[in-house]
Amino acid sequence: MSNTVSRRQFVTLAGSAASLLGLGLVGCNSGSNDAAGSDASDSGKTYVVATDTTFAPFEFTNDQNEFVGIDVDLLAAIADDQGFSYELNSLGFDAAVAALESNQADAVIAGMSITPEREEKYDFSDPYYESYVCAAAKDGGDVTSMEDLSGKTVACKTGTQSASWAEAVKDEYGFTITYFDTSDMMYQDVQTGNSAACFEDYPVMAYGITQGNGLTIIGTEEEEFATPYAFAVMKGKNPELIEMFNTGLANLKDSGTYDEIIATYLEA
Ligand code: GLN
Repeated sequence: MSNTVSRRQFVTLAGSAASLLGLGLVGCNSGSNDAAGSDASDSGKTYVVATDTTFAPFEFTNDQNEFVGIDVDLLAAIADDQGFSYELNSLGFDAAVAALESNQADAVIAGMSITPEREEKYDFSDPYYESYVCAAAKDGGDVTSMEDLSGKTVACKTGTQSASWAEAVKDEYGFTITYFDTSDMMYQDVQTGNSAACFEDYPVMAYGITQGNGLTIIGTEEEEFATPYAFAVMKGKNPELIEMFNTGLANLKDSGTYDEIIATYLEA
């Protein structure tokens, strides 16, 4: 279950009921780079942070089979700066939020958008990345605009902001929605021609297109569904973690590390 990925250790619990019950919760990721016994780990607590599986460039498995991304690196750098330990569990977006709500995780970092509805349930950190939503179809295919979706089926990822946009406009454009748990399953459904389009966060789709996913953007929503990403905990729980995240994030911005992390994955 536990495997070594990149220079840090982490455990992936995707699909493991035993793990979700806490039975298989092994392995730990020290944000302080193996500084066991140092003051960095004196507080004792290892926070469980849940994340998505495939949401490049925020979290994904690279060609070297390492779990990497902006969220992964940001959290590592912030934990290092603030001296807390954590374990990162790659569950999927909806599953990560469910883990948070059922107390199986202390926090979520998953390109998670701050929305007014979510702010009622969760406490968010300061935002760390601006985002909005888009729809994408097969590049070179018949579907080239939102109007072309009339009478067709589109792919959405359960519980996401882009799905909320699709739900808000489905009657206007006359399409129906099929739901998937992961972004890659959604893209595949468009690539194979089952779905006419998929709905996704713009920075993620734009990155996927540069990586050759064979899709093209046919529409964007840059106002109502433009929501920045932040780190989340349950309301009123782990306030010290949000504080450390915010302080660490500010420090990374001051030191230039934040920009370096972004530049690792995205061109300026
Ligand atoms: N930003 C989107 C949301 O919070 C999608 C997140 C994701 O799919 N990991 O709903």
